[in-house]
Order: sequence, then C-alpha cells, then structure tokens
Amino acid sequence: MVNLKMFIDGEWKDAENQETRPVINPANGEVISYAPEGTTADTRKAIYAARRAFEEGVWSGISAQERASYLLKIADKIDEYADELTELETMDNGKPLREAGFDVGDAAACFRYYAGLITKPDGQTYHVADPMQAMVVREPIGVCGLIVPWNYPLLMSVWKIAPALAAGNTIVFKPSEVTPVTPKKLFEIFEEVGLPKGVANMVMGAGAIVGNEIASHPEVDMISFTGGTKTGKHIMKTAADTMKKVSLELGGKSPNIIFADADFETAVDYALFGIFAGSGQVCSAGSRILVEESIYEKFVDRFVERANQIKVGPGDDPATEMGPLVSKEHLEKVLSYIELGRQEGATVACGGNRIVKNNLKNGYFVEPTVFVDVNQEMKIVQEEIFGPVVVIQKFKDEAEAIKLANGTVYGLAGGVFTNNGAKGLRVIKKLRAGITWVNSYHPTYNEAPWGGYKQSGIGRSLGTFGLEEFQEIKQININLQVEPIGWFSN
Ligand code: NAD
Repeated sequence: MVNLKMFIDGEWKDAENQETRPVINPANGEVISYAPEGTTADTRKAIYAARRAFEEGVWSGISAQERASYLLKIADKIDEYADELTELETMDNGKPLREAGFDVGDAAACFRYYAGLITKPDGQTYHVADPMQAMVVREPIGVCGLIVPWNYPLLMSVWKIAPALAAGNTIVFKPSEVTPVTPKKLFEIFEEVGLPKGVANMVMGAGAIVGNEIASHPEVDMISFTGGTKTGKHIMKTAADTMKKVSLELGGKSPNIIFADADFETAVDYALFGIFAGSGQVCSAGSRILVEESIYEKFVDRFVERANQIKVGPGDDPATEMGPLVSKEHLEKVLSYIELGRQEGATVACGGNRIVKNNLKNGYFVEPTVFVDVNQEMKIVQEEIFGPVVVIQKFKDEAEAIKLANGTVYGLAGGVFTNNGAKGLRVIKKLRAGITWVNSYHPTYNEAPWGGYKQSGIGRSLGTFGLEEFQEIKQININLQVEPIGWFSN
C-alpha cells in the first residue's frame, strides 16, 4: 500500500480531522492507498507557510543560479527514480508503462529547461528623454496556487511547479483527488534536495474544499489551474473577488483535418494516435476527425480496421497499447456519452462498449469507439467526452473544413494532413486554436507554449510564455539628474 501524506511547511501531515479517501487502481478496481482528505484549515496552514516563506525571501531572495541548482537536482532525482515513478503513475492513472515513462522523462526535462531559462537575460530598458532611465524587471508574483487534473498526474504538476519555482514564487499545490500518488513522490524529492521549508506545499483533497480555499484566499496571489472548462469558469469567478492573476488550461474538442492529397497511411496512423493515446483522456486529443469526401469511406474503413486491433489492457502489461479510464465515475461519464451518441442518431462504426472480459472485468476499460453519420449540432460533436471516442465527419472543400473545425466553443489544438504545403499552412492559420500540427499530431515540447483559444483557456504553459505567467512586470524609472522638478512655483 502506497503511503500518502500532505506536505505542509516542510512536514508530512495527515488531514487535521484524520479523514482519508481511497485511491483506486483503475486497471482492477483495487485500493492502492488512502489519501488524506485535506480540510480548509489544512489548506490555510499551507497558504500561511507559503506566504511566510515568500516574505522571508528564502526562495525569492536567493540568486537565480541557486534556484536553478535546486531545479537541476530535482531533475536528476526524477531520473534516478524514473522506474518507480513510471510504475506508480501506471498504477494510479492506468496509462500504459510506455506512456508513463515518456511523462517521467518529460518531467525531468521540464525542470532542466526552466533551470536554464531562469539564468538567461530578461527585462527591457527604454530610450526615454534625459535625464531619466526607464527599465522593466520581472519579479515573482508571490504565493501561487496550483491545481491540476488526473490525466497526467506527474507532468501536469511539473508544468506548473517548475516555472513557478524557477520564477521565485512559493507554492500551494493541489493534485487531483483521483491521482495523488506521483505528486507525493515528487514532493519527497523536493524534501530530499532540501528545498527551504514552506516553499513548496501540497494539500490533497476535494476541489470544492481545498481547491476552493486556494482560489478564494486573499493570501494567494495567483491561481494556475488545469482541468475542465466548467471548473475553470468557477475558479475564475471565485478568484475575481481577490483579483488574483488567473491562468487556465482547459478542455478541448480538437479537429484533425485530413485532405484527400495527404499521405493516407500517415494520416490514419496519426489520427489513431491523436484520439486513442491516453485512452482519449488528453486535453488536446484529436476527437473530431474531418475527412475530405472523396476519401471518406476508404478512411473510415481503414481507421476502424486499425482501431479494432488496438490492444486494450492493464497498463503494467508491456503488450498493452491502450489502458483503462481513470475511474469508475469517469467510465460512467464516457459510457453515457456513447449512449447519447446512439440516441442522437449517430452510427457506431466500431466499439461502443465497456470491456468486461477475463482480467479486465474489474477495471474501467472501454473499447476504442468510432461514431460516423454525425452532424455538427450533436452533443458528441460539440462536447468534450475525454475518452476513447471519436467522431468522423465529412467535408467537401477547404472552406467547409475550416468552418466545421472552428465550430465549437473550444480552441485548444488541431491538425491538418495534406501534401500541399501552402494549403497546410493556410488552413492552420485559419484554425482558432493554440496548439497545431501539420502532418503530425500530439508532439509537444517544453520549449514551446501550450494553451488554448476561446473556452479552452487563458494564458500559456511552457516555454518562455509559461515562465512569464508566473512573473509580475515592474517598471522602474530612475532620475539621473537628482534635482527638484519645479512644477509648482512656490
Ligand atoms: P476537473 O476540472 O474536474 O478537476 C481538475 C482539478 O480541479 C482537480 O484537482 C479538482 O479537484 C479541482 N477542482 C474541482 N472543483 C474545483 C473547485 N470548485 N475549485 C477549485 N478546484 C476544483 O478536471 P479533471 O476531470 O480532473 O480533468 C479533466 C479535464 O482537464 C478535461 O476537461 C481536460 O481537457 C482538462 N485538461 C486540460 C489540459 C490543458 O492543458 N488544456 C491538460 C490536461 C487536462
């Protein structure tokens, strides 16, 4: 059984009222741990510890070089514990070992990226009229509240923690109540490398209690949230009362546009990867495939043929290509969307069921599912399902492809497959989305910004943009001729 505790002001803590919640392995429904169910009082202790550490300057007051050296040590420790982190991630989230292994490698790389970035030149100076010298410096925001979802328990945590700490902030972090296991290991690493007390705090528990306290508390200066759009709206409203800076990475219903002149097998291959990697529980999943009408039937046939061959199983089986959904609750949500699709009149071209055979019967497995005969108004086309469920739509020309692609409230990601370079770029430039690919789907980099247009969010993670989210901008004007201005005559 994994031992879970919260990390507040440099100490491992149970919830003050001793309450816990079970943490389940989604591949078999077994309890792997009991997580402390943090309270409002626990959250406040974490916030006050972060505030004190910030004000004392134990982190913001040391040099960028020193902070970078901590981040580099954290990266090395992530590498050292890579096998353990990978196994824990698979056990808690369900994802296949090879996906979890990628996440762990990326997490270490993210710490190294921000360790490098924070020691590089930044700020601006301006040529203003003598005798003034104007300049801008970037400073930490203060206490940052970081709230993450369950689909990449380790990596989503790191995408926030690494830049927030690099910038000199102190943090109050909340993992998803469904997947607190690898975040706990990450905080053990923070302790091991000797992060000063109170700099990094972790409170586990419910969004409505712990998350809400973080979003509303006046001593939290910024909230960085990744999760569903509905929760994001709620957090934005809550944070408005104390005028916190808000950064939101939210849901998506991303289009993947396949033109007839694309390399056919490449397009099919990436379209499968686009939706079924992570069992479709990926914010940028290519959950709407738009196919030019002249190759539509051929595409659907080949896509379905290959979707049916995906090996679904427990994440810790090396043969597994697609794991379970993260929880029973989420399984029920995805199955209800499949049922809704049927009721709306769409046709299930493959899949459509929970898998209950043999060793999978106690886990939360769903077949790779493809809907055809859909129209733009259907809920299965408009709403994020967040499971291995894709709709395949037909378009007749470039203009219609763009119209359909942009025809939801979301704007997170999108892909285009074509062998016509000019057309590929032309279409991408018309997509109202923050993350895009030409003849590819999903690869992303610590160096490049991640985030959405429209209701997919506000702000960007990663890259230089991701660091700036966690910085204030200060204008400094220095008088180089120290004498009275003489504005008033007496
Ligand atoms: P969720 O919104 O239910 O929960 C996310 C986090 O918010 C959890 O830690 C939860 O406890 C907390 N929370 C819930 N209610 C809260 C409240 N009232 N106040 C404060 N915090 C609260 O999302 P989820 O189901 O965990 O994750 C799936 C969603 O995350 C999907 O919509 C997916 O698209 C999105 N996501 C987006 C990105 C991105 O980069 N854009 C990345 C990963 C996941």
